[in-house]
Amino acid sequence: MEANQFREFGKTMIDYVANYLENIRDRRVLPTVEPGYLRPLIPSEAPQKPDSWKDVMDDIERVIMPGVTHWHSPKFHAYFPTANSYPAIVADILSDGIACIGFSWIASPACTELEVVMMDWLGKMIGLPEEFLACSGGKGGGVIQGTASEATLVALLGAKARAIHQVKKEHPDWRDADIAEKLVGYTSSQSHSSVERAGLLGGVKLRGLPTDDSNRLRGDTLEKAIKEDRDAGLIPFYAVATLGTTSSCTFDNLEEIGPVCNDNNVWLHIDAAYAGAAFVCPEYRYLMKGVEMADSFDFNPHKWMLVNFDCSAMWLKDPNWLVNAFNVDPLYLKHDQQGSAPDYRHWQIQLGRRFRSLKIWFVLRLYGVENIQKHIRKQIGLAHYFEKLVKSDERFEVTEEVLMGLVCFRLKNETNEVNERLLKRINARGTIHLVPSKIRDMYFLRMAVCSRLSEESDMEVTWKEVRESADDVLEKKVN
Ligand code: PLP
Repeated sequence: MEANQFREFGKTMIDYVANYLENIRDRRVLPTVEPGYLRPLIPSEAPQKPDSWKDVMDDIERVIMPGVTHWHSPKFHAYFPTANSYPAIVADILSDGIACIGFSWIASPACTELEVVMMDWLGKMIGLPEEFLACSGGKGGGVIQGTASEATLVALLGAKARAIHQVKKEHPDWRDADIAEKLVGYTSSQSHSSVERAGLLGGVKLRGLPTDDSNRLRGDTLEKAIKEDRDAGLIPFYAVATLGTTSSCTFDNLEEIGPVCNDNNVWLHIDAAYAGAAFVCPEYRYLMKGVEMADSFDFNPHKWMLVNFDCSAMWLKDPNWLVNAFNVDPLYLKHDQQGSAPDYRHWQIQLGRRFRSLKIWFVLRLYGVENIQKHIRKQIGLAHYFEKLVKSDERFEVTEEVLMGLVCFRLKNETNEVNERLLKRINARGTIHLVPSKIRDMYFLRMAVCSRLSEESDMEVTWKEVRESADDVLEKKVN
């Protein structure tokens, strides 16, 4: 493809994307296709001779769109939001145009240096303590990971390296593998599945601890577990606290957990994948009180801060545990300025990395902090509006305190099976899309405010769907 064709194709695609997003409400949120729908729609082999870009454009509606779940529709309320904004899309075009692989400073100095500064901007915006920021002049700093799952694993690997190093000082004759076998980490039964997975991938034990009646991990529970494990000859080394759990958007009690971790030399990682974006609004920072006691912190601008996937913002107070622990340094990756700026290849699992800080830069400049705060406040306001609608109907109950953009609810005095039927009915009607969760055997529905385009009128459509589906289920019009 020549540059002239690229100009035409690119402009056509920009128009297509703008039209898609502006009219997304008109599409059915969940596709109706069956598995295997796509193969018959395209040739069984790649074309020998090139197709025209116009042919490709035509196939988007014919082949792709019938199988797309429209995550950015205001009728999509499943999981948590994933971000989508025009400035981030444009930044990704530039990133793809530059197409550098910024694994070290010299591999593209702008890629590394913009990331360092953007992580400082973001950290200041959400009120992180100075120790996490590169601009403090201390050891701390931020890095963009692909996902919160990677951040949890990377933090665990750093914690594991620190623990092994410290134990070896006392027991120089112990082998790494013997120490690793004794290591034990902690999280709550409500944390994301990626935390358990980090334990499996990192080859260490990870205990899921019970929560209090409000689904929060408490300090005394953690302290008791650490003591039990110490008494059993194990070495507690890592804990993950969640700010904004996936099931119910609950916040672990950091003010209690932090001192327990610090007193016991346990690395504390905070997973604030979704809710961390809300700390851009000072009124929500009470939910992260105690953050100064953490060793690492992560949230996903790609969830709720208008930066398209993938962009997970992670800060470490002392990245050296990572940088030094996994430092393999072949000649072809070395450069003369080594040590004077981060070489981000040491802060992550893979080598290659895209120029992701561009999309943070574009979004922060083109929205401004003010409009990002407005976005968060508006979405939380919409969740409270939906909560009010649910509470206005005596058949329903809201099962968790609504703090962010998530409302957990169910049919009151009805069994889990009836609530499962309600969800099935809602999704079968096809206008909106929700997913469920279950805590302590209680099944409930989750309504997450996901689309940046959501308005009160959308919440009313969603509520009408829920109400009418409940009529159908309770009046036994459907199974
Ligand atoms: N942690 C929490 C609390 C989450 O809610 C999620 C996803 O929703 C994750 C981690 C995983 O995020 P990622 O897809 O960025 O790994």
